[in-house]
Amino acid sequence: MSELIKDQYIGPDEVLRKKKDYIIPCVYHFYSKPMQLVKGEMQYLYDTTGKQYLDCFAGVSVVNCGHCHPEITKAVCDQVTTLQHTCTIFLTENIVNLAERLAQVTPGRLQKTFFCSSGSEANEGAALLASIYTGNQEFISLRQGLHGRTKLGMSLTGLQMWRTDTSPVGGISFAPNAYCYRCPYGKRHPECDLACANEIETIIKTTTSGQVAALIAEPIQGNGGIITPPPGYFKRVKEILEKYNILLIVDEVQTGFGRTGKMFAIEHYGVEPDIMTMAKALGNGVPVGAFTTRPDIADKYTRPGASTLGGNPVTSAAALATLEVLKKNNLPQQAAELGLYLKTGLTELQKKYPLLGDIRGHGLMLGAELVKPDKSPAPEQLDAILEQMKDRGFLIGKNGPDRNVMAFQPPLVINRKDLDNLLNNLNDILAAIH
Ligand code: PMP
Repeated sequence: MSELIKDQYIGPDEVLRKKKDYIIPCVYHFYSKPMQLVKGEMQYLYDTTGKQYLDCFAGVSVVNCGHCHPEITKAVCDQVTTLQHTCTIFLTENIVNLAERLAQVTPGRLQKTFFCSSGSEANEGAALLASIYTGNQEFISLRQGLHGRTKLGMSLTGLQMWRTDTSPVGGISFAPNAYCYRCPYGKRHPECDLACANEIETIIKTTTSGQVAALIAEPIQGNGGIITPPPGYFKRVKEILEKYNILLIVDEVQTGFGRTGKMFAIEHYGVEPDIMTMAKALGNGVPVGAFTTRPDIADKYTRPGASTLGGNPVTSAAALATLEVLKKNNLPQQAAELGLYLKTGLTELQKKYPLLGDIRGHGLMLGAELVKPDKSPAPEQLDAILEQMKDRGFLIGKNGPDRNVMAFQPPLVINRKDLDNLLNNLNDILAAIH
């Protein structure tokens, strides 16, 4: 990037000052001295100095097709110069075409969609629909799940860090998550017989009134620490829920659209949810959220309730183009292959460095849990590694209740050379710590 362009920017210090003065501090940043990003090109980001970063974070699993993907950019630009907004009251082609495409790509009988602008709204809407359909008001959620920043979204969230609301919505029971590395029962799969899933039945019978609308769960918990349930987990959960006429809402906000090596992560478990929520990668960075459900459930929601910006022609154009790019380039399959490559590389590192306690995830949604020799969380080491990786040009995520899980969620258009680079640099840093 030329000096001329660089001079157009106010600079990182001024950005930090303005952030402090004008942005509510709940918006936080990872690094002690954050870089000022100004440009994105597929899997790469650039700061004001022209320094290139490999984005292993994708804006938390948003830009699955890569930053500023030319086809998605063109679709947005074309729409922006033609018709930017109406409102769902006046139908446009984009909204119905997008709903039709979602019916085609979502599992089983999921067919009818509601559009909004974020993951939080999608989960709120899905919970509302579950209440309308079942006539029940209670919910079950999983520990370490994250479902949004609205009042209900936070109340459904099982991570203290994201539950800032001191008066959460009532009627929510939490079930243990399928955290095999730290199994609350001290068991191992498959001998455990899915004790964590079985516990849901006990919870229904003990901590609820029995009038439960739905259980909400991420198929792989993202912010919770890339918690990846073992095979059979969701089948057992669904069986239990069906026995008590409770709906299953699957939150695919972070896992959807090829991220885990399948179009949707719940496909790894062969289960058809009753309602599926989506956002993030649906618009590849353009704000669009949605939930899709079966017609018999959808058709109970007849009262007016559309969202002003939901199904906007521009965001719908972005989502249509995103779905096309994912399909045309077979990105879910690519994520499966590259994910396996990265997981193998991380597992090799794990053999050398016991700091990497557990490697987990599917496709390009992988986590490495950093632990001390006694298996207690090692967040300080993770912070040091992430700072050094940033200096070397790699942006990696961090999550889990103890902030000790390194999260790899790059754009799916990454390649093996990028991954080799990533692994080599990580190896250097781990070797120095070791
Ligand atoms: N669900 C999940 C699984 C998420 O990861 C997030 C955001 N991290 C949300 C819901 C909330 O989405 P949004 O920030 O778009 O409201």
